[in-house]
Amino acid sequence: VNDQNIQPSNELKELRSQITELERKNQELSKQIRANETLYLKVLDALPINIFLEDREGHTLFANEQACKLNGITLDELIGKTVFDFFPKQIAEINRAVDLDVWRQRKLITREVPANFNNQEFHMFTGKTIIHVNESNEEFLLGFGLDITDRVRAEKLIEHMAYHDALTDLPNRWYINSYFEHFQSKSNDPSVFGLILLDLDHFKVINDSLGHDAGNLLLKEVSQRLQKVADNSGGILARLGGDEFLFLVPELPSEEEITPICEKIMQVLLEPVSIYGQKLNISASIGISLYPKDGKYLDTLMKNADLAMYGSKDKGRSCYSLFHPIMKKQAIERMDLEILLREALIKKEFFLQYQPKIILKTGQISGMEALIRWKNSELLLYPDSFIHIAEESDLIIPIGEWVIREACKQCKKWHNEGFDQLTVSVNLSPKQFQRQNLEDLIVSALEESGLSPQALELELTEGTLMERPEDAVIILQNLKKLGIKISIDDFGTGFSSLNYLRLFPIDTLKIDQSFIKDLEREQANATIASAVISLAHSLLINVVAEGIENEEQFDFLLAGKCDYGQGYFFYKPQNASEIGQILHDRTPQLV
Ligand code: C2E
Ligand code: MG
Ligand code: MG
Repeated sequence: VNDQNIQPSNELKELRSQITELERKNQELSKQIRANETLYLKVLDALPINIFLEDREGHTLFANEQACKLNGITLDELIGKTVFDFFPKQIAEINRAVDLDVWRQRKLITREVPANFNNQEFHMFTGKTIIHVNESNEEFLLGFGLDITDRVRAEKLIEHMAYHDALTDLPNRWYINSYFEHFQSKSNDPSVFGLILLDLDHFKVINDSLGHDAGNLLLKEVSQRLQKVADNSGGILARLGGDEFLFLVPELPSEEEITPICEKIMQVLLEPVSIYGQKLNISASIGISLYPKDGKYLDTLMKNADLAMYGSKDKGRSCYSLFHPIMKKQAIERMDLEILLREALIKKEFFLQYQPKIILKTGQISGMEALIRWKNSELLLYPDSFIHIAEESDLIIPIGEWVIREACKQCKKWHNEGFDQLTVSVNLSPKQFQRQNLEDLIVSALEESGLSPQALELELTEGTLMERPEDAVIILQNLKKLGIKISIDDFGTGFSSLNYLRLFPIDTLKIDQSFIKDLEREQANATIASAVISLAHSLLINVVAEGIENEEQFDFLLAGKCDYGQGYFFYKPQNASEIGQILHDRTPQLV
């Protein structure tokens, strides 16, 4: 055997090395492929989206880490399973139906769906589509799901906030709007729809004197009580803002059925509300309008319920009134009144009457209270019929300014006639008090008239002072620096805090007429009057009793050491000329 034949030829060597090289390359390639595979898997696992692959029958072929995590099982447990293994039958069937739809349509189908994984509620944005692998001619269903629970929750919250009141969580105006729209679009039955508008009486006083926190507590308590009525009557309760609530009663069998609901509302408000240990009596004024009789649109119904509500306020509050077309006429008259009031100032239709203030012990006249009157053509109008309209329309500012200047001028006249100890008291409205240049106005009125500051007294109510008590203290101190006097009018009707009473630089308290009225018969009134007198005296403040109408009241107050009195028992308010006459007739009795 030729040795040379056994020796591998060069070609063979070459072939071998090529094979080795190929094997190496092959190994490298597989390594590369594995590395790529791992990379793709890592990419899929890193995504915060659950991704899965299914065959035509719905068996899971692959799922990424997020999908396993959400389902709470491992990939091994998932492989080969179908939705019927994880979800309740009903949900699984819906899922499978979508799969079949995707197989049929062969395009991406996305949906937002609620889901439950591991007993936890989720909201998912899901998508499914078909992928085709050319090389193997295989087809798979690729699905993905993005957890949008937080977004959906935030959207829901925002939507809730848009349609609910933040303080009480009751539906708000927008909710009612959309509710009504919905009601109208579907309603073709002839049933009556009731709208009950409710406004708390004197809420502002409570808010001003006890503070906003107390006011908020009160509103919450009231809304809870009203909610119970709503639950029992099938109504919807909403808060429109401030102290205004709305009751919607859909599908009333008849118009009459609305009154027992109103009775119920009044009844639940009867029980006093306890705020910070203080018991507060509350009540509401209620206005009712009925659909479709009083309006076809919500706007009209609300307006008409509002007019009816004002009707209740006019009737003395704490009652309910059904809308009547005549109320519209009255509202127009009110507007006309505002226009007339504006002209009254220019036409000089206002004048002042004066009511003497008596020193109870001596019977002497110590001063006058100026009270505004309005002569409108043949009608003589008293402040109760127009002052509130003046306040609402800001006309009170120029009117009030005129009163101060006029009262100072008149008082100076009396001083010049020899009655130079007389004082004049002027009533101030809340708006006037809050106005920045009140001090300037007083200075100018005093200068213009030449009246000495000690002769001028301003009468303010508790409500005015307690609106912003800290500011009030400063304003009062500045006014006092001018040398004028300050008096609190209608004392006992607001919720003054005793602490503030000590801080306010006050000269006089006027006990409200309601406590003087029937004082001889009503023990409670007598007790309150006596308490106010001793309270005031302990703070070195003088006391005026308003509305003294008979001798018994006078005797009681004199014995109770009340300093001053005003009332029909002494004098009614009268024109300046008549007062001048009285002063002259009484001259010997004056100081
Ligand atoms: P007020 O300051 O408490 O004035 C006392 C009211 O009681 C006056 O009513 C007066 O006429 C009435 N009165 C006096 N004595 C008696 C009595 O013995 N019995 C009864 N039943 N009533 C008596 P008037 O003049 O109608 O004024 C009502 C309210 O209007 C005043 O209450 C005051 O708050 C306000 N007011 C009056 N003039 C002005 C003003 O120029 N500006 C402002 N902002 N308010 C004013
Ligand atoms: Mg007064
Ligand atoms: Mg008064």
